[in-house]
Amino acid sequence: MALHNSLNADSKPILAPVISLARGVEAPDTLRLTTALQITIDLEQLLRIFSETVQETISHQGLTYRNDEQHYVVAVGHTGRHHCSYRLNLLGTELGEVAMSRNKRFSEQDLAQIEYLLCALVYPLRNALHYREALNAAHRDPLTGIGNRAALEQNLARETALAHRHKKPLSLIVIDIDLFKQVNDRHGHTVGDAVLRSVAHVINEQLREDDLLFRYGGEEFVILTSGTPQQGAALLAERIRTAVAATPCICNGKEIEVTISLGVATLDDENGTVLFDRADHALYQAKKQGRNCVVLAEQVNSPPAQ
Ligand code: GH3
Ligand code: MG
Ligand code: MG
Repeated sequence: MALHNSLNADSKPILAPVISLARGVEAPDTLRLTTALQITIDLEQLLRIFSETVQETISHQGLTYRNDEQHYVVAVGHTGRHHCSYRLNLLGTELGEVAMSRNKRFSEQDLAQIEYLLCALVYPLRNALHYREALNAAHRDPLTGIGNRAALEQNLARETALAHRHKKPLSLIVIDIDLFKQVNDRHGHTVGDAVLRSVAHVINEQLREDDLLFRYGGEEFVILTSGTPQQGAALLAERIRTAVAATPCICNGKEIEVTISLGVATLDDENGTVLFDRADHALYQAKKQGRNCVVLAEQVNSPPAQ
């Protein structure tokens, strides 16, 4: 195991594999910390427990964990004026960087103790990262790299609860590739797979960072766009429809053109399943209307026509 300490952006490698403390520096009690870290395998909870338990030895205001490779950032507490940061590495595997901050300078003794305490974090952190990776893989569609149906179900429940709590609009768009069976029949499944990847990519390019895209089934995709009322979702759906129609998939030297049909629904006084069903019904209408078009679901509480 190796720890790399970067103080004031100056990165220097320090002791491995076991930290030995300089003479005169009291060894902190790591037993309580080691026991506390065994409680969880969840990354955020682990770092919160680490920060809380270390607080007993080294007072600090905040702790930040960054893992640029896996795009994780976890922040606990607040940021102080002074900070110290350590790049953690276990047997050649980078585990990310832990930074602690507070308004009072860290003394040499504080730093030595932090390094000592960080040793207790390394293995639980490695396990939490593996666990997070496994969870991510279970929620990712391997063909397109976007979220799968399990991810959609989890996010739909969360986003509808948030939208109701904060009284914010939430729209859901269901997308289905038109006559996709013909693509497979004419060009084979490998080309069909390339078309699926290409369509997912084109849709993704039209989305904001906050929008969520999932592959719901074979050639069906779902977008969750929070903070977007019906009119904005209709515009987004139309933009996606145009982009897909204008972007042929180039595969084995052939240009394969596809179109999509879209159903759009905006959250009313209902749960996520009902919202999805309304968008799906609108998609069905789009297919009936001749495909390559967008249909908006009727609002549940819309006033009756005069
Ligand atoms: P419609 O416009 O009514 O949606 O017609 P369609 O042909 O797209 O619909 P249908 O449901 O008849 O066909 C969907 C096809 O999608 C059938 C299936 O073989 C294909 N499919 C589903 N998953 C995959 C996949 O992972 N890869 C490939 N290549 N094809 C898939
Ligand atoms: Mg379908
Ligand atoms: Mg289809």
